Amino acid sequence: MTVTAELLERNRTHADHHPGRASSLVPSLQTVLVTCCDHRVDPAHVLGLRLDEAVVIRNEGGRITPDVLRTLTTLATVALVEKLDLDIEIVVMHHTDCGTSRLARPEHAALAAQIFGVSENELDTKHLTDPVAAVTSDLRLLRSTPLIPTDMRLTGLVYDVETGAVDRVEEK
Ligand SMILES: [Zn+2]
Repeated sequence: MTVTAELLERNRTHADHHPGRASSLVPSLQTVLVTCCDHRVDPAHVLGLRLDEAVVIRNEGGRITPDVLRTLTTLATVALVEKLDLDIEIVVMHHTDCGTSRLARPEHAALAAQIFGVSENELDTKHLTDPVAAVTSDLRLLRSTPLIPTDMRLTGLVYDVETGAVDRVEEK
């Protein structure tokens, strides 16, 4: 069986249990989770996240990049258009042994700089090899963004791919 055939078979099981109507545009946990696209870090498993509970944005590293800020702007615009009643918390979850730590090598500086929309000289501030410092840096970036209301809850997490445990990172 091909991978696609296997996935479509799993979907039939999903569809069999679907209530047959779309739920609200508002995620039930009022949460937007930004995390890494790494296959070991799927929040449905790591955090037990269920369907409809959170908007999940995944990219390389789960980093706050210009692309993620644009996505947040889009979500905020949709919420405005739909007059959604929101009380959103943004959760940023990075992890140990992230593939993006390999971009810390000088030969990949141009790619890393492009991802973050910074100059190669500024890459040190992105802490590619230190997930705790990277989460702290990303929370600070979010907090400084006019898009984010000053009273919005921001939470930082780091997932350990060796133990399966998640630790909280305080906002500084
Ligand atoms: Zn990663």
